[in-house]
Amino acid sequence: MRSDVLYIVIPCYNEEQVLPETSSRLEHIMEELISKERISSKSRVLLCDDGSKDRTWEIIEELHAKNELFSGVKASRNRGHQNVLYMGLMVAKDRCDMAISMDADLQDDPEVISEFISKYEEGCEIVYGVRSERTTDTSFKRNTAHAFYRIMNDLGTEVVYDHADFRLMSKRALEELSKFEEVNLFLRGMVTMIGFKTAVVKYERHERYAGESKYSLSKMMSLAIEGVTSFSVKPMRIVLFGGVGLAGFAFLAFLALIIVGLCGYWVDAAWICTSLLFILGGAIIACLGLVGLYAGSTLLEVKHRPRYIIDRILES
Ligand code: UDP
Ligand code: MG
Repeated sequence: MRSDVLYIVIPCYNEEQVLPETSSRLEHIMEELISKERISSKSRVLLCDDGSKDRTWEIIEELHAKNELFSGVKASRNRGHQNVLYMGLMVAKDRCDMAISMDADLQDDPEVISEFISKYEEGCEIVYGVRSERTTDTSFKRNTAHAFYRIMNDLGTEVVYDHADFRLMSKRALEELSKFEEVNLFLRGMVTMIGFKTAVVKYERHERYAGESKYSLSKMMSLAIEGVTSFSVKPMRIVLFGGVGLAGFAFLAFLALIIVGLCGYWVDAAWICTSLLFILGGAIIACLGLVGLYAGSTLLEVKHRPRYIIDRILES
């Protein structure tokens, strides 16, 4: 008989419209998994209230009073999806053997939870939920999301394509995650840094069950910026090389103008001044890139991320 404890961690911000449906769907799924002895009866659905202004926390209290399957944790104020999800995962870490994070709005298909657990049973420490299609998203959301993953990977942040934060993590993976000391979180980038044996489970992304997206464009933009700036100094390298390239090109143009002038041809002084200006501009941009590289590497240093994570040791 398996006795592994599963925690399903759900960040909730103003989700009074979806919580009744989400909780009843999860109740069925969890009860079935418990009755089949695939997870322990100590497994819980951990609803994490991110300082909601509606009845979200009252609903969580009611659910908890009715059924011990539902636990709750309430943030002191709204801190945003990534922070509240991290809070939930850290609460779950000390109580579970594996935790699955999913959104409250049923866009992440709870039916694939069983597949997540199968992969965990096969020894995977992290299982990524990856969207098989995005037909339910608006074309704006689909295109911005695809651009987001492409730019992320191009700029040096390793992320799993089309994976948001619907994933399973073993207790061991959660413990490694807790060793990352950064304050500004971009969980899907941090989790890929952990490593270990991983798997991908495809699922169909549904439409939000009710209510509106709590991720405004500005929140999405700051997540994207966080994703790039907290993992990579590549943008600064691009600035440095861009500046060097510009100054180099302008210098060649300057030399060419001088040579043409020395050969007796007429050269407008404004062209020479312009080329000198571009040399200076390029040099200033290159210096900015250099300063940015130092600032960026200081930022990466102060995060005190683990230098390595050991998977296993063979010794006798
Ligand atoms: N969420 C949160 N705090 C916030 C914004 C969102 O906890 O400040 C939660 C929200 O309740 C949901 C999840 O994060 O469970 C994803 O948000 P949403 O579905 O609105 O984003 P979208 O799917 O539109 O990107
Ligand atoms: Mg959603």
